[in-house]
Amino acid sequence: MQITFYGAAQTVTGSCYLLETGDKKIMVDCGMFQGHRLSRERNYLPFAVIPASVDYLLLTHAHIDHSGLVPKFYKNGFKGRALATDATVDLLEVLLPDSGHIQEMEIERLNRKARRAGKKLLDPIYTAEDAFGCVREIERVKYKQVISLDNNISIRFNDAGHILGSAILEIWVREGTKQTKLVFSGDLGAKDKPFVNDPALIDEADYLVMECTYGDRLHQDKGHRLEKLRQVIKETYDRGGNVIIPAFAVERTQDLLYDIGQLVIKNEIPPVQVFIDSPMAVAATEVFMKHPNYFDQDTGKLIASGINPLAMPNLHFSRTADESRQINEIKSGAIVLSASGMCDAGRIKHHLKHNLWRPECTVLFVGYQAPGTKGQRLLSGVGSIRIHGEEIAVKAGIKSIDGYSSHADQEGLLEWLGSFNKLPGRVFLVHGDPEALAAMEKLIPEKTRVDAYAPAWQETIQLTPGAEFSAEDLQQAYHAVAAKMDAFLKSAPEQADFNLVMKRLKDLEILLAEVKAG
Ligand SMILES: [Zn+2]
Ligand SMILES: [Zn+2]
Repeated sequence: MQITFYGAAQTVTGSCYLLETGDKKIMVDCGMFQGHRLSRERNYLPFAVIPASVDYLLLTHAHIDHSGLVPKFYKNGFKGRALATDATVDLLEVLLPDSGHIQEMEIERLNRKARRAGKKLLDPIYTAEDAFGCVREIERVKYKQVISLDNNISIRFNDAGHILGSAILEIWVREGTKQTKLVFSGDLGAKDKPFVNDPALIDEADYLVMECTYGDRLHQDKGHRLEKLRQVIKETYDRGGNVIIPAFAVERTQDLLYDIGQLVIKNEIPPVQVFIDSPMAVAATEVFMKHPNYFDQDTGKLIASGINPLAMPNLHFSRTADESRQINEIKSGAIVLSASGMCDAGRIKHHLKHNLWRPECTVLFVGYQAPGTKGQRLLSGVGSIRIHGEEIAVKAGIKSIDGYSSHADQEGLLEWLGSFNKLPGRVFLVHGDPEALAAMEKLIPEKTRVDAYAPAWQETIQLTPGAEFSAEDLQQAYHAVAAKMDAFLKSAPEQADFNLVMKRLKDLEILLAEVKAG
């Protein structure tokens, strides 16, 4: 058995791992590389593995750095089974076509240049239509269900508490009489996040592939997020201005609504009007509303107390460009949530143009601002900024709250790893900048004595199979299957299902005999 790290190796984006066992290939995530140009160019390379040769594609969650190349994977011949949670598939329906649209625009821009230079024209990685097509192919699964992909491979999705539908994956692989258990953390959530549960605790693993986004950092505003938000809203309201919040459409926007809902129910803020001005955020919020079964207890309590943060009476969704423009007429008492989160594209630029020059307003950042973005420049204190070709003075208050991260910080990562009943034999560190990976590579062996290693891009590592099956384990498994058979036969199954189940039982019998014989 071997694993190859095709993405998120020595970097954060492009999550993609290939597990090869016997005659089966399992891909975990198929993400897009984001960030600087050299990284993004990897998206245009042919897949290092032939998509048609892959049997299963398992997606941990809907973020583009984990799912963004799925349409390309289908376009290039993938015909196997793809599985993800119900909520993930619904979010993919929003995110992937949008990503396809961005690819089309990007290529259009490049081709304009290419045409003028007499160079060859390029094709987009995939189109919005490609994306729509492939999302329909993905099977919807639920948390906590063990799913047998075949006689030797079983999987289970567990709540990762990162975004709606996000999962920690468990994979059991049987080779002969040995079983190896692998766990892929996916992106791990921070504790006490709105809407989602804390990350599920995992019992054991032979190998763990673990994210390290915040492997070298702690979240600062953890306990004060709500109080800081209250202050910003109250002070801006008192000055007679608006609060403009650049926010990502999925999760961050809904998290803000959740906190605003809490402040409303406690009567801690004045009567503000809240606007969601991003068609994608509106669509993502609708996905949230469709899946209340994914919410954690606190969210349930908040809704039971009469405040549904996604449907507050003072909450307005603006879909059309006209509706968006009307918000610009409002001079005070509005909170506007709009994308993009780093202020480089989308409707947020209009809201900045209308509010940045007014000292009574506030621009509130709630997410990471990458170097070179307008958001980062505003945070660094520039006196003016160019928007749509116009120089705009920065007079509004510029504030930031860093307590909205969707990722566990260093403490959270170590705590989650420490909660394994039986610690993994080896940990592979992924999804982090080199500094974050190096920090965890050092810390994990110190704290847990487990070997931790951050693989290189495209590195393949041979895995030693896990423990031998005991005859007792198998006997138990056999009895469990036999009991289920009884119920199954009473349900008048289709012939094909019947044959499949009979074959499983037969295989188990043979294995049991083999193990008993030693
Ligand atoms: Zn993520
Ligand atoms: Zn990620």
